Amino acid sequence: MPGPHFVVIGNGPAGNEAALTLREKAPDARVTIITRNLGGSYRPHLIPEFIAGNIPEKGLFAVTPDTYTEKNIKFRHGQRVVDLDPEKKTLTLDHKEVIPFDGVIIAVGGMPRIPEYLKVFEHSMLTLKTMEDARRWISTLAETDSVLLIGGDLTSLAVTKALLSLGKKIYFMLTEHAFWPLRPDEALFAEVSDRLACKGVDVISGKTLEGLASTSENSFIVRFDDRRELEVGMIGAFFGLAPDIGFLRRSGIRMDRGLLVDEYLCTGFEGVYATGDCAQIYHPELRDYWVSIGYANAEVLGRTAANNLLGGKDQTAVAAESIFEAEGINVNTSWWMEF
Ligand SMILES: Cc1cc2nc3c(=O)[nH]c(=O)nc-3n(C[C@H](O)[C@H](O)[C@H](O)COP(=O)(O)OP(=O)(O)OC[C@H]3O[C@@H](n4cnc5c(N)ncnc54)[C@H](O)[C@@H]3O)c2cc1C
Repeated sequence: MPGPHFVVIGNGPAGNEAALTLREKAPDARVTIITRNLGGSYRPHLIPEFIAGNIPEKGLFAVTPDTYTEKNIKFRHGQRVVDLDPEKKTLTLDHKEVIPFDGVIIAVGGMPRIPEYLKVFEHSMLTLKTMEDARRWISTLAETDSVLLIGGDLTSLAVTKALLSLGKKIYFMLTEHAFWPLRPDEALFAEVSDRLACKGVDVISGKTLEGLASTSENSFIVRFDDRRELEVGMIGAFFGLAPDIGFLRRSGIRMDRGLLVDEYLCTGFEGVYATGDCAQIYHPELRDYWVSIGYANAEVLGRTAANNLLGGKDQTAVAAESIFEAEGINVNTSWWMEF
């Protein structure tokens, strides 16, 4: 009799660890990864270093497709899950194929968010999440000397460092979303502004972007509410990541900002787990939901979900140390009550 079929959706740090753990601990099971991205499992936190030219593209990958083949994990990349029925235990791909499973781990992470008031300019802004995004940044940067970074989340500080090392002129627009997921306060604003200014960054704060015109492929005129205009070669948007779970809206799986799971990462449907950046996890003592984001946490959470899908009862923990460091600011990315 064939073993159970376990599917992992997503092969970021959480999904990758989940699939490898399932493979190791359930040798008779069929394990399938379905992921929208092409290629192996990459480490998004190294992307700024890749853009700076400090590490080669292959240095970003924790695992290549060959590893999955060697480990007898069916790897379906470039395929998007568009629906999931947790009762019938089926999921549907964008080309309408329906795939049955005995257990599933949803590890779909987050996607860059653009605030509503800026959506009208979305097509002129580059975000940075996937390998395709990273390649687009590199090719666009080759054609331009000046960059406006808008939003100011923690990732954008790492990107600023990378762009400065490439000799680019940086305009850094701080908004109310700055330092996401930290809550900005005036002291932090002032400290980061000073540090950036010392490095030659032109910090723009207290202004709203009002207009954007493109004069050629790599030339934008940006207009602020005080009528100041700025010409730059490219614009990067950094407003943090939001769980990428819209495709599950009709599934019946409970969701808030992320997918709501118990302390074992179970959605409440037997055999259906969620983990990594897309999960909002119940804490029985806090009697509330919490999240832990970041690379190290995602790996731990991926392993926990796999162990529990296999019948374990591992209470969710977080990585011993999960620190996001940017511009001298250290952020513990664990146990947040909101995101
Ligand atoms: C530029 C950048 C810099 C960062 N720097 C740091 C840092 O310094 N320190 C740190 O701790 N963290 C950092 N992070 C955050 C860290 O990378 C994330 O917390 C981590 O990747 C989350 O892992 P995950 O597996 O939960 O989700 P993700 O890595 O987002 O992976 C999600 C996976 O799901 C797949 N997917 C999504 N939707 C579907 C679908 N419908 N169908 C099929 N597949 C789907 C995607 O293709 C992807 O494989 C950074 C992130 C970025 C983008």
